[in-house]
Amino acid sequence: MKRAIRAVAIAAGLTVAACGSTPKPEAAPRQPPRTLTVGIKFDQPGLSVRGTDGTPHGFDVDTAVYIADKLGVTPDHITWREARSEQREDLLNSGTVDFIVASYSITAARQQLVSFAGPYLMAGQDLLVRQSERAIDQPEDLDGRTVCTAEGSTSADKIRRSFAHNVQLSTRDTYAQCVSDLIAGTVDAVTTDDVILAGYAHEHPGVLRVVGHRFTRERYGVGVHKGDLDLQSRITSAIRLMIDDGSWRRALDTDLAASGYKPAAPPVVFNAPDKLVAPGDPTTLDPELVNAAKAVAATSNARDWEGFRSLVCPETADAIDDIVLQYTPQFDKSLGAEIKNAGYTNTVTGVTQNDPNSATFAFHETFTNVPEKYRSYFKDIDYTATMVRRDGAWKLCALAADFVEP
Ligand code: GLU
Repeated sequence: MKRAIRAVAIAAGLTVAACGSTPKPEAAPRQPPRTLTVGIKFDQPGLSVRGTDGTPHGFDVDTAVYIADKLGVTPDHITWREARSEQREDLLNSGTVDFIVASYSITAARQQLVSFAGPYLMAGQDLLVRQSERAIDQPEDLDGRTVCTAEGSTSADKIRRSFAHNVQLSTRDTYAQCVSDLIAGTVDAVTTDDVILAGYAHEHPGVLRVVGHRFTRERYGVGVHKGDLDLQSRITSAIRLMIDDGSWRRALDTDLAASGYKPAAPPVVFNAPDKLVAPGDPTTLDPELVNAAKAVAATSNARDWEGFRSLVCPETADAIDDIVLQYTPQFDKSLGAEIKNAGYTNTVTGVTQNDPNSATFAFHETFTNVPEKYRSYFKDIDYTATMVRRDGAWKLCALAADFVEP
């Protein structure tokens, strides 16, 4: 909070005191107005664009305004600052902005540099093409073609990592510039998250269309200065409230429904863990804890749903189910039947016992037998679990998940 909100000093009191020998009765002390500088995109219709009067609007903006309100800051005290994909970490680390709400995916690489609250929206990388395009349906069809995306994005990383050998990659500062190139015919496709592309397709009906085959999973988080755990958890609470009180759904309907974009459900929100627990010394751990941790890891993938539920604290069981479902790719109904044969392995990677009755442990999930076209969709997952010992039995009471970037 200290870094996040700058109080505006009120100097008026000093002037009054200097004016006369008989001091006027003191006015009731006024709460100093609080201000925030928030990083957003300026040219992503549906998520965040600047209107002609300079005021931004869109789902990211509404999310930022909601969060600011919960931090005690009214919209007229927010300074909006453009945060292009490539600039985000610098803007946070230099203290230029207090937080960023700008289609900003939570990734392990970024978590080295900044911290995230959220996620507040789940999206996935897709392709935008000209309406008349018949030959491009998935990234594999981009062989020999030119695709445009923004520098500093996960979208560019993905193309470089998985498709660079055949695809001509053209990067720009913003997606809006890519869209102009696509319309002008100098590139064959634009790639980034489906929610962003849907906004451009909606702006250019009959000219551009989204292919509609997501090939990554992107969790949008609110970026904060690395290690600002206080602000991180205040923002996480605000996002949870936004989902619970219906504001999230309303903002979605106002800002994104027009483009036809439909996220499955609100995401399960938690502070994305910055780092995993270190492996404990097995000689000092309660052996029952180790067994319980292994059992949680072995059953967590919902193929042994009953077994898993029996290890979970009843009051948090539903929330934990939601997290497992959200992060387990097999449960994405938009994927084809070929994924049925995909398997998984979970390995406990660290256990830390804090006291006789509480512990944290981490486990890692990897997938096997994944059809080639879904390879990038089945990212490995790191889970961080909190265990509590109740009536002698260790139970899983909290869970957080994080994709591991290949
Ligand atoms: N969500 C992706 C990212 O964070 C792509 C969108 C963007 O560049 O803002 O890189």
